Amino acid sequence: MRDVVIVGCGIVGAAAAYELSKYKLSVTVLEKENDVAAGATKANSAIIHAGYDPQAGSLMAKLNVRGAELAKELCKNLDIPHNQCGAMVLAFSPKEKVVLEELLQNGNTNGVPELKILSKEQCLELEPNLNLNVFAALHIPTTMIVSPWEYALALTETAVRNGVKLELECEVTAIDKIDGGYRIHTTQGEICTRYILNAAGLAADTVHNLAAEKAFEITPDRGEYYLLDKSEGMRVGHVVFQCPNEHGKGVLIAPTVHGNLIVGPSNGRTPSIDDVSTTTQGLTYVMETARKAVPTIDFRANIRNFAGNRAKTGCNDFIIGQAHGADRFINLAGIQSPGLSAAPAIAEMAAELLENSGLVLHRKTCFHNERKVVRLHKLTPDEKAKLVKSDPAYGRIICRCEVVSEGEIRDALNSPIPPRSVDAAKRRCGAGMGRCQGGFCSPLVLEMLAKHYNCGPTEIPQDGAGTYILTSETKIGGAV
Ligand SMILES: Cc1cc2nc3c(=O)[nH]c(=O)nc-3n(C[C@H](O)[C@H](O)[C@H](O)COP(=O)(O)OP(=O)(O)OC[C@H]3O[C@@H](n4cnc5c(N)ncnc54)[C@H](O)[C@@H]3O)c2cc1C
Repeated sequence: MRDVVIVGCGIVGAAAAYELSKYKLSVTVLEKENDVAAGATKANSAIIHAGYDPQAGSLMAKLNVRGAELAKELCKNLDIPHNQCGAMVLAFSPKEKVVLEELLQNGNTNGVPELKILSKEQCLELEPNLNLNVFAALHIPTTMIVSPWEYALALTETAVRNGVKLELECEVTAIDKIDGGYRIHTTQGEICTRYILNAAGLAADTVHNLAAEKAFEITPDRGEYYLLDKSEGMRVGHVVFQCPNEHGKGVLIAPTVHGNLIVGPSNGRTPSIDDVSTTTQGLTYVMETARKAVPTIDFRANIRNFAGNRAKTGCNDFIIGQAHGADRFINLAGIQSPGLSAAPAIAEMAAELLENSGLVLHRKTCFHNERKVVRLHKLTPDEKAKLVKSDPAYGRIICRCEVVSEGEIRDALNSPIPPRSVDAAKRRCGAGMGRCQGGFCSPLVLEMLAKHYNCGPTEIPQDGAGTYILTSETKIGGAV
């Protein structure tokens, strides 16, 4: 019998695993996909919001501000790409400036530091590419950008290093109440546990309903994006928002930690939680709205479109707490934006809830809280030369666009959570993230994965289970 099973390994499950790995507990994370961060956590705006906009007094506000504070330390300790570039919310009229003043007041109540209203001149000084009609802006210097999937990966890897078990491709299909806990049925067998944390993202309602009476429903709401080439990466230096609307923070323009420009998201119901297709309508809306803030964005430099689904519940707050009628089953549900920012604080709250419902938390005397990743493109020429001399694999470049070496992909394959797909290698090392989107390096990455797993190239997927790139090993001329 495990002490705690966490269902789902997005940023919330990852943060909970990390938090619980500080204690003398047996913890298992069950994730239905073949990698961590496969849901909303890999397809969002990648912003650690400071916490100026969630309604003062809400759980969201409290956990956002605390989570953003914790994120700074985590990013430093666990070598997670991040940048505190700050944000601006633009107003284009005196009426919109009133909204900024309300946001300022709300942010001050939430305890967000250094908020300030900027004049038109100050806005243009900070961001010369803004629309000249800008009237004022709220400046939020503590906003950060981050690599969201690497954030989840770093937390999970650290949890695994500290004794947590991670089961990938392990979907929870049924839950039975047993003496002192639960028996969980999965696609890989059964597992018994004293406590369950439900961090299943868009499927948190389905997982809840396996153990308790229906209490909430998640409706997926799609957000679509453009990811522009690095040639557009300097178009803005801050995360640039416009005044929020009934759909939330609206369309933003932001640099990414990888040097690109991200523009989005759209909003609108999507037919299923797994439908992350993009639409002409959604992308046109994003383009037209973004141009109001920064008219010169060159959308011809687009290298990828993608979409992520928000876990909307109709309640404007997170749903965190013990499920009614299911002792020791704790929901971390309805985690829509700012869930990425709030995750470490949600995890702290989860530990508190577990303790309040009887789980004894004893700190481990030895907790490994560091992580270091070699990133060739970040090194100086001297550092590169030294590294390549000591290990020539770092000198063999696999991805030319992002300058990723064989050594870095090999390191990922030897890490606590090795990539099982070409895209999983991309999320770890950046190979395939650049202008050609893997056109050159994908076959080489695929070959490395096949060699590592001692299987044929046809068995390596592009991303999720079944997304095979090669379907047959037939050679030209017909011989196999
Ligand atoms: C368009 C968009 C933009 C956003 N922008 C931001 C932002 O800039 N900043 C911010 O703070 N937040 C942002 N968010 C919100 C943030 O992305 C989410 O709050 C966060 O990623 C939710 O994490 P999660 O772990 O709850 O869910 P997920 O990341 O979806 O993870 C849930 C996991 O559970 C797994 N799972 C589901 N069912 C089962 C099962 N039966 N058995 C086992 N595993 C299961 C799934 O495979 C998945 O991996 C945005 C969200 C969207 C959609």
